[in-house]
Order: sequence, then C-alpha cells, then structure tokens
Amino acid sequence: MRPKLIVGNWKMNGSRAANAALLEGIVAGLDGARAECAVCVPAPYLQQCEEALKGSPIAWGAQDVSAYEGGAYTGEVCAKMLSDFACRYVIVGHSERRAYHLESSGLVARKTLAVLKEGMTPIICVGETLEEREAGQTFDVVGDQLGTVLELLPLDAVAKIVVAYEPVWAIGTGKTATPEMAQEVHARLRAQLKARNGEAADGVAILYGGSMKPDNARELLAQPDIDGGLIGGAALKAQDFLAIIHATG
Ligand code: 13P
Repeated sequence: MRPKLIVGNWKMNGSRAANAALLEGIVAGLDGARAECAVCVPAPYLQQCEEALKGSPIAWGAQDVSAYEGGAYTGEVCAKMLSDFACRYVIVGHSERRAYHLESSGLVARKTLAVLKEGMTPIICVGETLEEREAGQTFDVVGDQLGTVLELLPLDAVAKIVVAYEPVWAIGTGKTATPEMAQEVHARLRAQLKARNGEAADGVAILYGGSMKPDNARELLAQPDIDGGLIGGAALKAQDFLAIIHATG
C-alpha cells in the first residue's frame, strides 16, 4: 500500500506572524496522524519553516523553481537554494503558473529535472480547464502534460516523482471533482506511468487537488488511485488541514 501524502500549498499567502501560529497549530494536532504531510510555502518563508518544523513529522517545500542552475537570472530561485533550506518537495507546473506565467509542459519537464538533480521530490501538477473537460479532452490534456515530463525523465527517476491531478475548474472554486471523476483520471495517469516504467508506477503517489476540504476529503482519499491531496485554501487553517490529514485513515 502506498502511504497517503497530504501537502499544503499556501500559494501567495502568509506573514511571519500568521505562519508561526499556523505551523504551531498543525504540529500540535498531529498526534495519531498516519499520513505523511508537508507544507509548500512562499520562498521567503522557507527559513522560518525549517526552524519551526525541524524534528517534526512535517516536511516543507517550495511552490516553484527555476529550470536554470544559477547565475544571471534575475528574480529566479534555483533548486540548490531550495535544497539549502532542506526542502523535501517542490511543486512544478501548477496551473496558476501555466496560466499566469505561460509555463509550458517543456519548461515544467526541465524544472522537474532540476528538482531531482538536487535530491528533492517534484510534485508535478496536471489538470484540464472546464472547456477542455466539456469538450471531452481531459485525458488528452493531462496525458500530454504528464507525457512531456516523462519523455525527458530517465527511467529510474519515475519512482522519485509525485503527480498531482488538479482540475483547473475545481481550484479555489468550491467545486470538487466527484471521487469517481477523480479516480478515473488518476487511474489513467497511473496507466501512463506504468507504460513508461511498470515497476515504479505502483509506488508513485498521485495526489488530488481542487477544493479538497474536511467534508469531502475522506471519500476522495478512499479511492484506490488517490494517494493524498494537494490542498490550497484549507491548508491555511490548522483545524481544516489537520482534519484532512486525519481523514486518511
Ligand atoms: P484549493 O484547495 O484552494 O482549491 O487549491 C487547490 C490547489 O491549487 C492546490 O495546489
């Protein structure tokens, strides 16, 4: 059985004071949790996370990374810097970056390699828009997004990635994919991973993201190919984030 993984994506939220309270609240409520958990925070708060979470069961990570290794790239943060703050996870290809920063799947693939090179785990996000779903293109879209990354990935690296299925129409909207809808896509993604590296695919965590909340988490997480959640809004309240963590079993 794959262990469940619950990751909070704070997006562009937080302040030193608010983060301190949130992290303290999460750590205080973790007793009995079976899931692995992590928070992916804005880069300026990585040091605060490292100090607050070192020695706790919660890992931390970043929400994006440069595809470049370092040097004259104003404004960029490279993978080596993230690993310097002991990040375990780095989100790549979030739909907000694809939409607002015009990131292509090719760039997401290069970012994935940069993360792996520094020994961290990339959380590769894929997902379709509402128009694409209504046009019956869901599997083509997510298949292309994942496929572009898999093409560049050495075979033995497949076991080292996490995939997140985040339907764009469900992000921050309060609309969630039904457990059946999500499971159907997760199973297709698993089959695609299997086609690339059969041995590794069963161990790869595929997370669901998109308005996962305490009241719908249990049903989603009970699906055979849903191995955890990538949580936005509900990760900003300790009580809600903990409720999702404890919904894993
Ligand atoms: P919400 O949980 O706010 O819908 O966000 C999901 C998400 O984008 C996580 O990366």
